[in-house]
Amino acid sequence: MGRVGAALGAAPIPHCPGIWVCGRYAVAVLIDLHTHSHCSDGTDSPRELIRRARAASLDVLALTDHDTSDGWDEAGQAAAGTELRLIPGMEISCLYGRAGVHLLAYLLDPGYPPLAAELEAVRDSRASRLPAMLAGLREVGIDITEADVARVSTAATSMGRPHVADALVGLGVVRDRDEAFDRYLGWGRPGYVPRYAADLTEMIGYVRRAGGVSVIAHPWGRGSQRTLTADVLADLATLGLTGIEVDHLDHDAAQREQLRSIASDTGLVVTGGSDYHGTGKVDHPLACETTDPEQFERLLAAVP
Ligand SMILES: [Zn+2]
Ligand SMILES: [Zn+2]
Repeated sequence: MGRVGAALGAAPIPHCPGIWVCGRYAVAVLIDLHTHSHCSDGTDSPRELIRRARAASLDVLALTDHDTSDGWDEAGQAAAGTELRLIPGMEISCLYGRAGVHLLAYLLDPGYPPLAAELEAVRDSRASRLPAMLAGLREVGIDITEADVARVSTAATSMGRPHVADALVGLGVVRDRDEAFDRYLGWGRPGYVPRYAADLTEMIGYVRRAGGVSVIAHPWGRGSQRTLTADVLADLATLGLTGIEVDHLDHDAAQREQLRSIASDTGLVVTGGSDYHGTGKVDHPLACETTDPEQFERLLAAVP
């Protein structure tokens, strides 16, 4: 709606994020900055994702597959000539100390050599992790092969834990992905194998030098509140981090309120996104969480 709204002479209503007035009508501006296709662990093709985004009346959609830009071309072709504004992005697997942190990066050049090398290392490590995971599962008596995993991940760039989880569901070992992670694939479980991730502070610099902006995904999801404290977030802001994803289903209302106040103290942009994975993640439909248009404009303004 932003671009379309401005062309129609629509104006945002102060204090009503996402609602614009156009003549006598109020219209919502829907911006979802966190989604996955089958180029990582989602289940929709990029083209299908664009179709669904349009059906959900989204105005802006970011495609943020894990550690890859493979879906950008197809998504770009599908979005061309439509009202939907596509923001190419990715969700990069990083480490801060020993804690895993996901970094959303937007509008970056994926071919920038230091960045491309890091992404390749992350993807290679994920690929070599598979045989080790399956060996761990076989040790506890689960008869699972690479062929079982390949069957549920035909279009994926590389096969990872979510695909192993799907294979376990397919074999009738567990009911769904969540149970697969809880019992077999999460940290300390028989199928858990550590893997390489990029250094968070280094990656924030690479994204900037690759012409993009970075936002920490679900910073306080899954127990990372202890690691990514207000002080740490403030430090990361000085290193070039642009924003934090406050509106994500992993955060409760109290966490969101605290994160918003950290953002306003540090100048970080506040974003929101669904973390849509198709049928690969339940209860994360497109646009279930969105980004305020003014925050989105700030994010774009931060592009170097
Ligand atoms: Zn994530
Ligand atoms: Zn995600």
